[in-house]
Amino acid sequence: MRILVTNDDGYLARGLRTLARAASAIGEVSVVAPDREQSATSHSLTLHYPLRVRVTDEGVHVVDGTPTDCVVLAVGELLPARPDIVLSGVNHGANLGDDVLYSGTVAAAMEATILGIPAIAISYAGKDAEVIDSWEEVLVRLLHRLVLRPDFPAETLLNVNLPPVRPEAVQGVRVTTLGRRAYVDSLTRAVDPSGREYFWIGGGESRWWGGPDSDFRAVHSGFISVTPLHLDLTNYRLVEEIGRWDLSL
Ligand code: MN
Repeated sequence: MRILVTNDDGYLARGLRTLARAASAIGEVSVVAPDREQSATSHSLTLHYPLRVRVTDEGVHVVDGTPTDCVVLAVGELLPARPDIVLSGVNHGANLGDDVLYSGTVAAAMEATILGIPAIAISYAGKDAEVIDSWEEVLVRLLHRLVLRPDFPAETLLNVNLPPVRPEAVQGVRVTTLGRRAYVDSLTRAVDPSGREYFWIGGGESRWWGGPDSDFRAVHSGFISVTPLHLDLTNYRLVEEIGRWDLSL
Protein backbone atom coordinates (compact mmCIF):
# COMPACT_ATOMS: atom_id res chain seq x y z
CA MET A 1 0.00 0.00 0.00
CA ARG A 2 1.30 3.44 -0.99
CA ILE A 3 0.68 6.12 1.63
CA LEU A 4 1.11 9.89 1.21
CA VAL A 5 1.63 11.75 4.48
CA THR A 6 1.24 15.53 4.69
CA ASN A 7 0.27 18.16 7.26
CA ASP A 8 -0.27 21.87 7.85
CA ASP A 9 2.24 22.44 10.65
CA GLY A 10 5.22 22.15 8.32
CA TYR A 11 7.71 19.40 7.49
CA LEU A 12 9.60 19.73 10.79
CA ALA A 13 6.52 19.14 12.94
CA ARG A 14 6.62 16.35 15.49
CA GLY A 15 3.11 15.19 14.56
CA LEU A 16 4.08 14.67 10.91
CA ARG A 17 7.07 12.55 11.89
CA THR A 18 5.00 10.47 14.31
CA LEU A 19 2.35 9.86 11.65
CA ALA A 20 4.93 8.94 9.01
CA ARG A 21 6.53 6.41 11.41
CA ALA A 22 3.14 4.91 12.31
CA ALA A 23 2.11 4.72 8.64
CA SER A 24 5.34 2.92 7.72
CA ALA A 25 4.02 -0.06 9.72
CA ILE A 26 1.18 -0.30 7.18
CA GLY A 27 2.78 0.53 3.85
CA GLU A 28 5.29 2.46 1.82
CA VAL A 29 5.30 6.10 2.98
CA SER A 30 6.07 9.25 1.02
CA VAL A 31 6.05 12.59 2.80
CA VAL A 32 5.20 15.84 0.97
CA ALA A 33 4.71 18.73 3.38
CA PRO A 34 4.77 22.54 3.56
CA ASP A 35 8.05 24.27 4.35
CA ARG A 36 6.44 26.23 7.20
CA GLU A 37 3.42 26.47 9.44
CA GLN A 38 0.27 26.61 7.30
CA SER A 39 -2.36 26.14 9.99
CA ALA A 40 -5.75 27.78 9.33
CA THR A 41 -4.97 28.20 5.62
CA SER A 42 -8.04 26.08 4.89
CA HIS A 43 -8.31 24.78 1.33
CA SER A 44 -6.29 27.52 -0.33
CA LEU A 45 -4.44 26.82 -3.54
CA THR A 46 -1.43 28.82 -4.73
CA LEU A 47 -2.17 30.20 -8.18
CA HIS A 48 -0.23 33.45 -8.40
CA TYR A 49 3.38 32.41 -7.91
CA PRO A 50 5.43 29.34 -8.83
CA LEU A 51 5.93 26.61 -6.26
CA ARG A 52 9.40 25.29 -5.42
CA VAL A 53 10.12 21.84 -4.05
CA ARG A 54 13.25 20.55 -2.36
CA VAL A 55 13.99 17.08 -1.05
CA THR A 56 15.60 16.62 2.38
CA ASP A 57 18.28 14.04 3.20
CA GLU A 58 15.46 11.89 4.64
CA GLY A 59 13.59 12.01 1.31
CA VAL A 60 10.86 14.39 2.47
CA HIS A 61 9.50 16.66 -0.27
CA VAL A 62 9.26 20.20 1.10
CA VAL A 63 6.92 22.58 -0.74
CA ASP A 64 6.74 26.37 -0.28
CA GLY A 65 2.95 26.24 -0.49
CA THR A 66 -0.20 25.17 1.31
CA PRO A 67 -1.28 21.66 2.37
CA THR A 68 -3.61 21.57 -0.65
CA ASP A 69 -0.67 22.49 -2.92
CA CYS A 70 1.28 19.59 -1.39
CA VAL A 71 -1.42 17.04 -2.25
CA VAL A 72 -1.89 18.44 -5.77
CA LEU A 73 1.86 18.35 -6.47
CA ALA A 74 2.40 14.95 -4.83
CA VAL A 75 -0.35 13.21 -6.78
CA GLY A 76 0.15 15.11 -10.03
CA GLU A 77 3.95 15.19 -10.30
CA LEU A 78 6.15 14.24 -7.38
CA LEU A 79 5.21 10.66 -6.53
CA PRO A 80 6.17 7.80 -8.86
CA ALA A 81 2.68 6.29 -8.41
CA ARG A 82 -0.73 7.42 -7.20
CA PRO A 83 -1.10 6.91 -3.43
CA ASP A 84 -3.71 4.45 -2.16
CA ILE A 85 -4.45 6.70 0.81
CA VAL A 86 -3.56 10.18 2.05
CA LEU A 87 -2.95 10.80 5.75
CA SER A 88 -2.79 14.40 7.03
CA GLY A 89 -1.43 15.30 10.46
CA VAL A 90 -0.91 14.63 13.24
CA ASN A 91 -2.01 18.23 13.71
CA HIS A 92 -0.75 20.04 16.79
CA GLY A 93 -4.18 20.93 18.19
CA ALA A 94 -7.77 19.80 17.78
CA ASN A 95 -9.79 20.02 14.59
CA LEU A 96 -13.32 19.65 15.90
CA GLY A 97 -16.70 21.00 14.83
CA ASP A 98 -16.67 24.26 12.86
CA ASP A 99 -12.87 24.34 12.99
CA VAL A 100 -12.67 21.77 10.19
CA LEU A 101 -13.63 24.61 7.84
CA TYR A 102 -10.47 26.57 8.70
CA SER A 103 -8.09 23.66 9.04
CA GLY A 104 -5.26 23.08 6.59
CA THR A 105 -4.90 19.55 7.97
CA VAL A 106 -8.48 18.66 7.07
CA ALA A 107 -8.23 20.52 3.74
CA ALA A 108 -5.33 18.32 2.62
CA ALA A 109 -7.55 15.30 3.24
CA MET A 110 -10.41 17.04 1.40
CA GLU A 111 -8.15 17.60 -1.61
CA ALA A 112 -7.34 13.89 -1.69
CA THR A 113 -11.07 13.12 -1.51
CA ILE A 114 -11.67 15.42 -4.48
CA LEU A 115 -8.93 13.54 -6.36
CA GLY A 116 -10.72 10.26 -5.57
CA ILE A 117 -8.18 9.02 -3.03
CA PRO A 118 -9.26 7.80 0.43
CA ALA A 119 -8.06 10.19 3.11
CA ILE A 120 -7.82 10.58 6.88
CA ALA A 121 -7.07 13.79 8.79
CA ILE A 122 -5.63 13.24 12.27
CA SER A 123 -5.28 15.83 15.04
CA TYR A 124 -4.13 15.73 18.65
CA ALA A 125 -6.54 17.72 20.81
CA GLY A 126 -4.03 18.57 23.55
CA LYS A 127 -1.86 21.69 23.81
CA ASP A 128 1.24 19.64 24.72
CA ALA A 129 2.38 18.71 21.20
CA GLU A 130 5.67 17.31 22.59
CA VAL A 131 3.80 14.18 23.78
CA ILE A 132 2.50 13.29 20.29
CA ASP A 133 5.34 10.75 19.83
CA SER A 134 3.80 8.63 22.58
CA TRP A 135 0.74 8.06 20.37
CA GLU A 136 2.65 6.13 17.71
CA GLU A 137 1.59 2.66 18.86
CA VAL A 138 -2.08 3.60 19.19
CA LEU A 139 -1.90 5.23 15.76
CA VAL A 140 -0.53 2.05 14.20
CA ARG A 141 -3.45 0.07 15.66
CA LEU A 142 -5.99 2.71 14.59
CA LEU A 143 -4.54 2.93 11.06
CA HIS A 144 -4.73 -0.85 10.76
CA ARG A 145 -8.46 -0.62 11.55
CA LEU A 146 -9.17 2.29 9.19
CA VAL A 147 -6.73 2.13 6.31
CA LEU A 148 -6.95 -1.54 5.44
CA ARG A 149 -10.74 -1.61 5.07
CA PRO A 150 -11.74 -2.73 1.56
CA ASP A 151 -15.01 -0.78 1.99
CA PHE A 152 -13.43 2.60 2.83
CA PRO A 153 -16.26 4.95 1.82
CA ALA A 154 -16.04 6.87 -1.45
CA GLU A 155 -16.26 10.67 -1.50
CA THR A 156 -15.75 10.75 2.24
CA LEU A 157 -12.81 11.53 4.49
CA LEU A 158 -12.40 10.55 8.10
CA ASN A 159 -11.61 13.32 10.58
CA VAL A 160 -9.85 11.79 13.58
CA ASN A 161 -9.11 13.61 16.84
CA LEU A 162 -6.98 12.10 19.59
CA PRO A 163 -8.06 13.14 23.11
CA PRO A 164 -5.76 15.19 25.39
CA VAL A 165 -4.96 12.23 27.64
CA ARG A 166 -2.09 9.78 27.85
CA PRO A 167 -2.47 7.10 25.14
CA GLU A 168 -2.77 4.36 27.82
CA ALA A 169 -5.79 6.19 29.23
CA VAL A 170 -7.82 6.27 25.99
CA GLN A 171 -11.39 5.10 26.58
CA GLY A 172 -11.87 3.75 23.05
CA VAL A 173 -13.05 5.04 19.67
CA ARG A 174 -16.35 6.82 19.00
CA VAL A 175 -17.87 7.58 15.61
CA THR A 176 -19.16 11.15 15.93
CA THR A 177 -20.83 14.14 14.30
CA LEU A 178 -19.39 17.66 14.06
CA GLY A 179 -20.12 19.81 17.10
CA ARG A 180 -20.43 23.60 17.07
CA ARG A 181 -17.99 26.12 18.44
CA ALA A 182 -18.20 29.81 19.27
CA TYR A 183 -15.15 31.90 20.05
CA VAL A 184 -15.45 34.42 22.87
CA ASP A 185 -13.13 37.47 23.09
CA SER A 186 -10.97 36.15 20.28
CA LEU A 187 -10.58 39.48 18.45
CA THR A 188 -8.12 42.01 19.82
CA ARG A 189 -8.07 45.69 18.79
CA ALA A 190 -5.00 47.55 20.00
CA VAL A 191 -2.31 50.09 19.10
CA ASP A 192 1.23 49.14 18.09
CA PRO A 193 4.40 50.85 19.47
CA SER A 194 4.41 53.32 16.57
CA GLY A 195 0.86 54.40 17.32
CA ARG A 196 -0.91 52.54 14.52
CA GLU A 197 -4.01 50.57 15.23
CA TYR A 198 -3.99 46.80 14.61
CA PHE A 199 -6.37 43.87 14.92
CA TRP A 200 -5.42 40.34 15.93
CA ILE A 201 -7.65 37.29 15.44
CA GLY A 202 -7.09 34.39 17.83
CA GLY A 203 -6.79 33.51 21.49
CA GLY A 204 -9.74 34.05 23.81
CA GLU A 205 -11.99 31.22 24.88
CA SER A 206 -14.20 28.85 22.98
CA ARG A 207 -17.58 27.43 23.88
CA TRP A 208 -18.75 24.12 22.50
CA TRP A 209 -22.15 22.68 21.98
CA GLY A 210 -23.63 19.77 20.07
CA GLY A 211 -25.45 16.47 20.51
CA PRO A 212 -24.32 13.57 22.71
CA ASP A 213 -22.67 12.01 19.66
CA SER A 214 -20.64 15.13 18.80
CA ASP A 215 -16.89 15.07 18.26
CA PHE A 216 -15.88 17.44 21.06
CA ARG A 217 -17.91 15.47 23.61
CA ALA A 218 -16.10 12.26 22.64
CA VAL A 219 -12.67 13.89 22.84
CA HIS A 220 -13.44 15.63 26.14
CA SER A 221 -14.54 12.24 27.54
CA GLY A 222 -11.20 10.66 26.61
CA PHE A 223 -12.31 8.88 23.42
CA ILE A 224 -10.73 9.02 19.98
CA SER A 225 -13.26 10.73 17.72
CA VAL A 226 -13.79 9.56 14.12
CA THR A 227 -16.14 11.77 12.07
CA PRO A 228 -16.99 10.84 8.47
CA LEU A 229 -17.08 14.07 6.42
CA HIS A 230 -18.29 14.59 2.90
CA LEU A 231 -17.77 17.65 0.78
CA ASP A 232 -21.29 18.23 -0.54
CA LEU A 233 -22.41 21.31 1.43
CA THR A 234 -25.92 21.27 -0.07
CA ASN A 235 -28.62 21.58 2.57
CA TYR A 236 -30.91 18.92 1.10
CA ARG A 237 -33.61 19.53 3.72
CA LEU A 238 -34.12 23.05 2.35
CA VAL A 239 -33.96 22.40 -1.38
CA GLU A 240 -37.68 21.67 -1.57
CA GLU A 241 -38.71 24.52 0.74
CA ILE A 242 -36.60 27.16 -1.00
CA GLY A 243 -37.81 25.70 -4.30
CA ARG A 244 -41.28 26.92 -3.27
CA TRP A 245 -40.09 30.55 -2.77
CA ASP A 246 -41.25 33.00 -5.43
CA LEU A 247 -38.01 33.68 -7.23
CA SER A 248 -39.58 34.89 -10.47
CA LEU A 249 -37.68 37.84 -11.94
MN1 MN B 1 -1.86 22.90 12.28
